[in-house]
Amino acid sequence: MMNLRTVFVFVLSVHSAFGAANKVSADRPNIIVIMADDMGYADAGFTGATDIRTPNLDRLAASGVVFTQGYANHPFCAPSRAALLSGRYQHRFGFETNPAYDPANPVMGIDPGEKLFPQRLQEIGYTTGCIGKWHLGAAEPFHPNNRGFDYFYGFLGGGHDYFKIDLTQPVKEAYLQGLVRNNKPAAFDGYLTTALSRDAVSFIETNKAKPFFLYLAYNAPHMPLQAPPEDIERYAQIKDKKRRVYAAMVDVMDRGIGEVVTALEKLGLRDNTLIFFLSDNGGPQASKQKPGKWNGSSNAPLRGGKGNLYDGGVHVPFMASWPTKIPAGTTYAAPVIALDIARTAVACAGADALSGPTMEGVDLIPFVRGQQKGMAHDAIFWRGSDGQRWSIVTGSGDKLVKDDAKGQVELYHLPGDVSEANNLIATKPDMAQVLQGQWEQWNRGNVPCRMRGYIDYHKQRDRFFYDMIPEAAKSEGYKPKIKENFK
Ligand code: CA
Repeated sequence: MMNLRTVFVFVLSVHSAFGAANKVSADRPNIIVIMADDMGYADAGFTGATDIRTPNLDRLAASGVVFTQGYANHPFCAPSRAALLSGRYQHRFGFETNPAYDPANPVMGIDPGEKLFPQRLQEIGYTTGCIGKWHLGAAEPFHPNNRGFDYFYGFLGGGHDYFKIDLTQPVKEAYLQGLVRNNKPAAFDGYLTTALSRDAVSFIETNKAKPFFLYLAYNAPHMPLQAPPEDIERYAQIKDKKRRVYAAMVDVMDRGIGEVVTALEKLGLRDNTLIFFLSDNGGPQASKQKPGKWNGSSNAPLRGGKGNLYDGGVHVPFMASWPTKIPAGTTYAAPVIALDIARTAVACAGADALSGPTMEGVDLIPFVRGQQKGMAHDAIFWRGSDGQRWSIVTGSGDKLVKDDAKGQVELYHLPGDVSEANNLIATKPDMAQVLQGQWEQWNRGNVPCRMRGYIDYHKQRDRFFYDMIPEAAKSEGYKPKIKENFK
């Protein structure tokens, strides 16, 4: 039989559970994550650009916190996004390469066992939207609508032409494929970046009545280098043609972000909306093997670019703004990484972080507000080429990196050497050994990459079908030894 004390405790605990639920529900913010694609570290005003105008990003950065050592999880697109949305190192589930675009392939995408953070927000009543580039698988099990998003407008592959759709072209990596709105074909008018911004504003207006989460994943300023002529003309003072077009692409994106912020202000939602902005990897730079790879970006003063594990590949423009919680003009200098965003969003919303595979990020808000001292991470980690390339950065900025699969391990101290020019490996072998041990410990929780890279995949798939239908192979000019059947 229940005694009085038990009843009292029971009533009290019911009451406080209710109280907590009400408090969470009244305070929970709207959350927006804006991701640029292949944008260089130095290509926003708040990270040092002087020839590209980004007044909206700069205002946003000044209104909140700039993470001066903010990292993407991978030096190229899809694995970086897999970590962002799962809140886990992508190697835990074998997502270490870009999936090929293939709507018929139910394997080529993010593991359905992973619970993406928009789903966690959806479970507590958030309306969730994904606008822009997906790149986490094009078949049904991977579709954003099946991975935690109520709404999707954009493209399922890794990029898109900015002006046109041409369904007569081969599918391959889908840059000319139609867009998708939820499960239906969709189009766009004019310039793609502007169309995505417009759709983001519309999503906010439609869903203003209750908390929402918006993942606004621009493909800008990823190649192809295309911008409206009038915007390119506004950068006529930039002599280099690539840089000129690239600047216009960033500029149009910045104006779109301005429109998103204005929409929030008009609806009275701005103060309690948490906005993150970051790039998915560093800006691509020319190399001996790929002289045409440069997209006009600058990672200065960082070393290397997209594809590298030097800071130029992963150290990106990274900031957050939340007027009611983050003081304007805050700088956070210790390393943070994109997968922290998921953990932060889930914590701020009061969503469940415990079900499903273990979330690995850190709630950044208490660190940014100074409520929690110390560094958000003791160390953060990267891995590429199935573990043949790797790096670790500690909270205090010591970095051990093996950028080339066949190359040497190098040691840097980033706070005094942001350009990774002064290799300390010969003078500090003990430190190198400790860092390598930490990386190996972390790597024990990883699994081999479970997908083929898209070039290899397309070659093998084409060969398979051509072998089955020799007539088709003949008419397509198939040769048994395909050197490059992919553009
Ligand atoms: Ca990218």
